[in-house]
Amino acid sequence: MIEIDGSVGEGGGQILRTSLALSMCTGQPFALSKVRAGRAKPGLMRQHLTCVNAAAEVCGAEVQGAELNSQELTFAPGVVRAGDYTFNVGTAGSCTLVLQTVWPGLMMADRPSRVKLCGGTHNPMAPPFHFLERSYAPLLRRLGAKAELQLRRLGFYPAGGGEIEAMIWPAMDPMQPFDLNERGARVEGYAECFAPALPRSVARRELEQLGAGLGWSAEQLRETPGRQNEGPGNALLVTLVYDHLTEVFTAFGEKGVSAEQVAREVVREVRAFQVSNAALGPHLADQWALPLALALTQCGGSASYTCTELTPHATTNFDVIGRFLPVKFATAPVAGGFSVTVAAL
Ligand code: AMP
Repeated sequence: MIEIDGSVGEGGGQILRTSLALSMCTGQPFALSKVRAGRAKPGLMRQHLTCVNAAAEVCGAEVQGAELNSQELTFAPGVVRAGDYTFNVGTAGSCTLVLQTVWPGLMMADRPSRVKLCGGTHNPMAPPFHFLERSYAPLLRRLGAKAELQLRRLGFYPAGGGEIEAMIWPAMDPMQPFDLNERGARVEGYAECFAPALPRSVARRELEQLGAGLGWSAEQLRETPGRQNEGPGNALLVTLVYDHLTEVFTAFGEKGVSAEQVAREVVREVRAFQVSNAALGPHLADQWALPLALALTQCGGSASYTCTELTPHATTNFDVIGRFLPVKFATAPVAGGFSVTVAAL
């Protein structure tokens, strides 16, 4: 039984999700105490409970403490079963985080799986759907773990109602880890504003401000039509495509925050990325660690990447991954950011 203290480091939901994902992949049970103790409302919220229940369903786990607000959890996994799954967060909680919980386990299965998810698709503090589709999934495919994602309907806080479908195929055995120290040449950059069920002026103002802030032309600024029953909600996305990877930066609109502020927020993130040569932005830097470490445990050796920032999410995730997998993380400052080396032990 691996004992994890949920209050250490970043102290959030990622400690839980990484533990669930790697417990499913390795068959090792874990006991998590002080669940999300670093958050204002600690314990399992609806969204985290959905992650636990989804993981348990996929691998037939025996679970104790899977209740709302629970701060203790034990999870003893069974064998991961490929299949046709539907997971409903039931609120506007992020369904992309639920997908990320079961994804590594399902890519280790012997058959493809189809996963339907309902909830929030674009939530603050979670990877937006387009980040998973454009940034994360292509890197997994390069490792040899094919997945295709489809956005059926946008879902925002507080209404929710979003829908995502993912097809996850068995990964190559062994997967093929690779270094990611450079972005490569920039291929294109564009911005999209999702603002379903909001006045059209919101999207126009956000894109105008963003265009002025980044010096972008009208062709790079895209208003996206809303589908029926979507929203209300607002996400402003910047996608930067490079030879070796794609990064997606997102800011969210909410009541009391002006369209101009939303645009300035995402411009700030994009500029911080652009002044550096490091390959990955702050979010990919924490999320890439798990699939890369998993690939390295299959084939040995080491691989590295550079990132613009090493957030507490990243360093905490490295520690949790190291509790489940025989890998060692080493970090060092480099010009414009940090270098992370992952070595199989
Ligand atoms: P936690 O706060 O522990 O629940 O973890 C949140 C996860 O969502 C981390 O992996 C973050 O990197 C990720 N995340 C938060 N915001 C974004 C964003 N704008 N784009 C991509 N990933 C994000």
